[in-house]
Amino acid sequence: MHPTFGHPESTERARVLLEAFPAFVEGRPATEDEVLRVHRRELLELLGSIDRPVQLEPNTVASETSLEAALLAAGTAIEAASNGGFALVRPPGHHAPPRAAFGFCLLNNIAIAARALQESGVERVAIVDFDVHHGNGTQDVFWDDDTVFFASMHQFGIFPGTGSADEQRETTLNVPLRAGLGDAEWLGAFDTYVAPAVREFVPEVLLVSAGFDAHEEEDLYLVDQRVTDDGFRELARRCRALAPRIAAVLEGGYALEALPRAVAAAHAGFRE
Ligand SMILES: [Zn+2]
Repeated sequence: MHPTFGHPESTERARVLLEAFPAFVEGRPATEDEVLRVHRRELLELLGSIDRPVQLEPNTVASETSLEAALLAAGTAIEAASNGGFALVRPPGHHAPPRAAFGFCLLNNIAIAARALQESGVERVAIVDFDVHHGNGTQDVFWDDDTVFFASMHQFGIFPGTGSADEQRETTLNVPLRAGLGDAEWLGAFDTYVAPAVREFVPEVLLVSAGFDAHEEEDLYLVDQRVTDDGFRELARRCRALAPRIAAVLEGGYALEALPRAVAAAHAGFRE
């Protein structure tokens, strides 16, 4: 439903994941009300008006069924958040701020899921984002909201350019990393910065923006990190220790052979 015409964020990503995890359960589309807790109505109207393939901004294409795909991704993220699941969805979401599609992302799946949790009575939600890119959209959604803690670990100096060490608030933590780091450095940064801050916030639920583009086999433009499958398993295991409930939503990860392995490793870690 969301063809991207040669783009790395392709339908192939979903195909390899569904093949690797044949016991998946289908999600449901998010409702308009669920989306509007995060996004402006103008964005939904724009996505709903698309009747042929278009370029929304330099990194983001969409076509006539992309809104349907984005609503399914967001609704599946909501279901994962309430059931303790792992939403294997595309398009990803963490670059989308309230007012626009941006950086391969149409709707911010994890932000919509966090708001749905709050609507169901959960007061304190933390989001940990270990995609290799800064989760600028999620940061924007919750910048002025001290009921949602947001922590992002990312390679700094690449897309989208935000997420410097200067961008911090009581409930926003950015951990910018240099190029060329592996499991030891990622886990060390998690233990030093992310884990203590999330623990101090005392979340009822932890949602993980699980991107796998810090993988050693990733070859996306300018991305240069060396996290292994075992590294992702360990990152997930340490996330699991931070809250009584946890759920995950897929973000990036474009190496088609590595992606199902890394997802399987993280899934195992979330359950340990
Ligand atoms: Zn990414």
